[in-house]
Amino acid sequence: MGTLVMKFGGTSVGSVEAIHQMANIVMEQAGRWNRLAVVVSAMSGVTDALIRSSRAAVNGDDETYRAVIADLRAHHYQVVEATVPERERAELLATIDRLLDGLAAFCHSIHILGEATPRAMDAIASLGERLSARIIAAVLRGRGLKSEAVDTTELIVTDENYQNAAPLMDKTRARVQTRLIPLMDAGVVPIVTGFIGATEKGAITTLGRGGSDYSAAILADCTDADEVWIWTDVDGVMTADPRIVPEARVISTLSYTEVSELAYFGAKVLHPKTVLPVVQRDIPLWVKNTFNPTHPGTRIVRTSVGTAGRIKAVTAIQGMSIVTVEGRGMIGVPGIAARTFSAVAQQGVNVLMISQASSEQSICFVIPADGAPAVIRALEEEMARELVRGDIDRIWSRDDVVIITAVGTGLRDTPGVAARVFGALGQAGINIIAIAQGSSECSISMVVDAKDAVNAVREIHKEVILNAG
Ligand code: ADP
Ligand code: ASP
Ligand code: MG
Repeated sequence: MGTLVMKFGGTSVGSVEAIHQMANIVMEQAGRWNRLAVVVSAMSGVTDALIRSSRAAVNGDDETYRAVIADLRAHHYQVVEATVPERERAELLATIDRLLDGLAAFCHSIHILGEATPRAMDAIASLGERLSARIIAAVLRGRGLKSEAVDTTELIVTDENYQNAAPLMDKTRARVQTRLIPLMDAGVVPIVTGFIGATEKGAITTLGRGGSDYSAAILADCTDADEVWIWTDVDGVMTADPRIVPEARVISTLSYTEVSELAYFGAKVLHPKTVLPVVQRDIPLWVKNTFNPTHPGTRIVRTSVGTAGRIKAVTAIQGMSIVTVEGRGMIGVPGIAARTFSAVAQQGVNVLMISQASSEQSICFVIPADGAPAVIRALEEEMARELVRGDIDRIWSRDDVVIITAVGTGLRDTPGVAARVFGALGQAGINIIAIAQGSSECSISMVVDAKDAVNAVREIHKEVILNAG
């Protein structure tokens, strides 16, 4: 068979048992494919701990960062001792020491400077994947597989947008062709770091939290892979987050568009950019459970299957603010919407949802809550004249809101779907603050108060998904 890229998430490499499970899966697939590349995340909790260490250093709290580093060392040591054959252990532990000593030195300088640039934060956050890839490669060599840890700082070339870097695909492809393909052709299974890349000048970058899924898709594109399998801790993409809705079910097939919409609106199971590289090449993507490998999981392909107009899943995205620009004089002023959104864009804030009242007397949009104060200030400045004239009455934000999104296909052409979704919330007495239909025609989003979020997801799940009839 052809080329397979598999990615294992944090929990799939996060404990001794998990590592045994994932190693079994890799061993099994290694015998089946001509070329196999494995992408790994940091062990679960490690990236958070790394970020905590750098924040503590910024705040002058050397006790905390030292404690975090000591914990990381103990945790990685313990895993190595339980999973890596004796002959490789000393060298691997020395490598772990070297990487963590580097972290301590880094935190020390941050502590002295009292600040950490986004670039320094990325160098620190990248360590979890650099550690896990080395450990997993050693575990697999212990199982008799030819495997080698490869840092994507050598492969994925990105722009300089630290903490949320974008890959430069042509350059990445060239690196993959010269570095990764020959390795795979020599029968070696590369264990590649997820989440990270490097600028052309070699500075370490990260692709954003949860970005290892995206790394796998980028590498699948650049290796002309036949399939990408994302291994995680649930049976696949589900009708809702199983932590919120225990009766959520696995969805057997979804389209790229449907899954993108779900990921974009908060389904953590896939990073929202994951489908970008694979969709153009039609590379099938699977989401599977490391802890239940015989379950087929979710298959993500080009065309949606199932009845048009049926809601397949519901998500929530927390921590939002809804900003409103309102005034009776707005109708007469051309370009208000354009000026509003360019002022927001200048703050580098991402708008997740827009809804405009048909009377044109207000524009509402939803942004992450931490961006709201800066956005309001920027808008007040941009609209200063209109505010004085009274064309705009006020610009304000409502915080602690959540976007609830129902995803399906052909929703726009199917009468009554929206009514059922809103009806479910109405019955439960949940107030809807704003509504928008996704431009991709496969989602309906609603803003509700944060206190109603869990109920809203459960109600829509119960009334619209389970009782779909
Ligand atoms: P990994 O470390 O493997 O990348 P993540 O924690 O990033 O795993 O993503 C998997 C988690 O996503 C699941 O454990 C689940 O709690 C959560 N999740 C949220 N929404 C969904 C959904 N619709 N379907 C499946 N899982 C979901
Ligand atoms: N380890 C990174 C994170 O926690 C990337 C990932 O797990 O996908 O965000
Ligand atoms: Mg993830």
